[in-house]
Amino acid sequence: MIDHDYHAHSMYSDGRLLRQMVEAASEAGLSGIGISDHCIISERDAMIEVRNDIGFTFDLTYERRRSAIERLRETYDIEIYDAVEIDYDPRDEDAIDAFLGEANFQYAIGSVHNLENVNVHYESYFAEKPETERAALVDEYFEKVVGLVDSELFEIAAHLDLIERNPALQGFATESHYRQVAEALERSRTITELNAGRILDDYGEYHPSPSFLDILQEYNVSVTVGTDSHTPEALIDRIPHVAGWFEERGIEPTELSV
Ligand SMILES: [Zn+2]
Ligand SMILES: [Zn+2]
Repeated sequence: MIDHDYHAHSMYSDGRLLRQMVEAASEAGLSGIGISDHCIISERDAMIEVRNDIGFTFDLTYERRRSAIERLRETYDIEIYDAVEIDYDPRDEDAIDAFLGEANFQYAIGSVHNLENVNVHYESYFAEKPETERAALVDEYFEKVVGLVDSELFEIAAHLDLIERNPALQGFATESHYRQVAEALERSRTITELNAGRILDDYGEYHPSPSFLDILQEYNVSVTVGTDSHTPEALIDRIPHVAGWFEERGIEPTELSV
């Protein structure tokens, strides 16, 4: 039985209407839904360009969403959490820290989405690189994930092996990478999530992958639920799948104290 999904998007970034996402969570039988819209907080020109190219404005609109969440809370019999998913890069730590202090979300999710300021989903960009360079980028990816956890800026570290979605970056992750992340999580307040963002799509696996999850379990790392849904349909389809996964493993998803 899944009670909470802490990772869903709304039209305040790249998801559907807030109300539709909340309705879907209700329909899926959840007692809590976390709306964690994408937010890029960086003073670096390259990331400001990325933010502007994608069209993310949540750093400017989070107060509007907050008032909308407050109104929805009066209508729906479900907890609606006012959360955020922030792109992490070590160079942006001070800016992120200042923003989080000012915006005061109920919790924050941290994500490594970019390498060389390019989204790791961008297949042809990485496919053109020689294998040694791609291996080095995967090293850099996991270094960033460890940095994210060690920064203590976030309650949740999202989709720990996002690079696996990109065929050009597959096959470079090692047990040593997994252990470095597991050790960081073990010493941190930050927990991770079972991310269902691609479970019913082409990739067909959770993040973290099964072998990564085995290692996290060795370290007793807490895992919460993140469907990473951008549409109501995705949320409704993914929840039973996630419930089955926890049942199979015989573990309970961790609930945040928010
Ligand atoms: Zn993400
Ligand atoms: Zn997300």
